[in-house]
Amino acid sequence: MKVLKFGGTSVGSASRMRDVAALICDGEQKIVVLSAMSGTTNSLVEISDYFYKSNTSGALERINALEQKYFDVIDELYSTDQFKSEAKKVIMLHFEFLRSFSKSVFTLFEEKAILAQGELLSTNMFHLYLLETGKDSILLPALDYMRIDKNAEPDTSFIAEKLNELLKENSGTTYFITQGYICRNFYGEIDNLQRGGSDYSASLVGAAIKAQEIQIWTDIDGMHNNDPRFVEGTKPVPYLHFEEAAELAYFGAKILHPTCILPAKLNNIPVRLLNTMDPAAKGTIISVQRLKGKIQAVAAKDGITAIKIKSGRMLLAHGFLRKVFEIFESYQTSIDMITTSEVGVSVTIDNTKKLDEILNSLKKLGTVTVDSNMVIICVVGDLPSENVGFQTKIVDAFKDIPLRMISYGGSNYNVSLLIHAEDKKRALVALSNSLFTN
Ligand code: ADP
Ligand code: ASP
Ligand code: MG
Repeated sequence: MKVLKFGGTSVGSASRMRDVAALICDGEQKIVVLSAMSGTTNSLVEISDYFYKSNTSGALERINALEQKYFDVIDELYSTDQFKSEAKKVIMLHFEFLRSFSKSVFTLFEEKAILAQGELLSTNMFHLYLLETGKDSILLPALDYMRIDKNAEPDTSFIAEKLNELLKENSGTTYFITQGYICRNFYGEIDNLQRGGSDYSASLVGAAIKAQEIQIWTDIDGMHNNDPRFVEGTKPVPYLHFEEAAELAYFGAKILHPTCILPAKLNNIPVRLLNTMDPAAKGTIISVQRLKGKIQAVAAKDGITAIKIKSGRMLLAHGFLRKVFEIFESYQTSIDMITTSEVGVSVTIDNTKKLDEILNSLKKLGTVTVDSNMVIICVVGDLPSENVGFQTKIVDAFKDIPLRMISYGGSNYNVSLLIHAEDKKRALVALSNSLFTN
């Protein structure tokens, strides 16, 4: 069985939902993972902010406006009064739920329940549309099978057991519709897989059922060789190895959630990136196949902080790096990039929640300097050291751009470079010129 995930833009209006239905309804049994309609999760974040600030009238105003948007979609999507009124009933229940928070204390727990409503709305509406058009569809509630553990990591054995149970109970059904993004946590509370997490849901579902293929349908024809939001003339990359795709996703290629490749890779399930607006386009296939010696793509990760720790006695001072890493570990902050020299070490982090505590501890080891508002540029491809020459092309692109760190050798798939945020666009453009134009 295949798993097909459709993102927010792909289900962003009545006509898009109809297109998706036409795309999936070929009579083959499949699981369809849906995001919230585009803009909805952002609106739910805004509504939560109003509730946090006890601005009930602000929250209610946003809720009413969002509800009206959904009523308009219903009017357009369904052709019969029966389904219009059925869908309206379902939608109203979710919006009553949103309004109920005006009377309660507002914490992270309530916020997560609010954020889950977008995917519940889109899947309910889509499922009702399939029923109206005579299709054999059933809803698989993600809150019944998708679970994360105490460390917020997916509980893969629970997911596989529950999901396969649900599928077995409904084995005669053709289309299984389920929510991306949402899950329950270790305590049974409603939680989520972080923003953009529907891709992750799809790959976890794919892994749980040992799917034949995972398809991520979005608004672009596959992974491009550079970020199309900053560089003109980017091109789709036809083939990527799992490791290359994982590096690109982790280092900022927004088309994929940072951790969604791992479950597919562990189970050797190909991931295909496809365009809902141009279904005939070839897109990208992510698998074990590797294109030898090819530089594939460039991505950029924003919001990076670089920290340098200088110690006059680092040479031969065994244990120095251990002490540095232990500090980051004790504040549960992961490190993205590392470079070392005889007298010190530079690391980068993207989570600055515990930055003050980390800096205070590091100061006991040496002189500490911090650069915030940095960007990691990541060049990805088959880059073993025997493949001489690729580094020249990369470094050449940076000839006018101040470089804070450079890292190669952690894997054969990536070279990472740290620069100031204000140089990001020109670095991406220069790399496209240097790497992808003949
Ligand atoms: P969805 O809502 O379907 O999950 P996203 O907005 O999360 O879609 O991801 C698709 C977007 O990712 C594209 O519209 C594009 O702007 C952006 N993007 C960033 N980098 C890349 C890249 N290297 N290749 C393709 N798309 C990219
Ligand atoms: N709806 C969620 C978000 O906007 C999850 C997703 O679209 O992947 O982040
Ligand atoms: Mg996305």
